[in-house]
Amino acid sequence: MTSEPVPVGGGECPLCASEVAEAADHCPECGWSLAGVDGRPGPYSRSALWWTVAGFVAVYMITLGIVALTH
Ligand SMILES: [Zn+2]
Repeated sequence: MTSEPVPVGGGECPLCASEVAEAADHCPECGWSLAGVDGRPGPYSRSALWWTVAGFVAVYMITLGIVALTH
């Protein structure tokens, strides 16, 4: 037998505590984003994280280039 993760049978909104369907990614009452709640995919995907790192590296390289040019 494979041990599958126990499905979260819906739940309640962490903000207004109203019942929310399992498939819903936003609360129908207050519109609260349920991403990242109870094992749902978070708002920050792995690719977004890599883009952030790439952005920092790009800024770092540009700064190094400016310093190299002005010296
Ligand atoms: Zn809500």
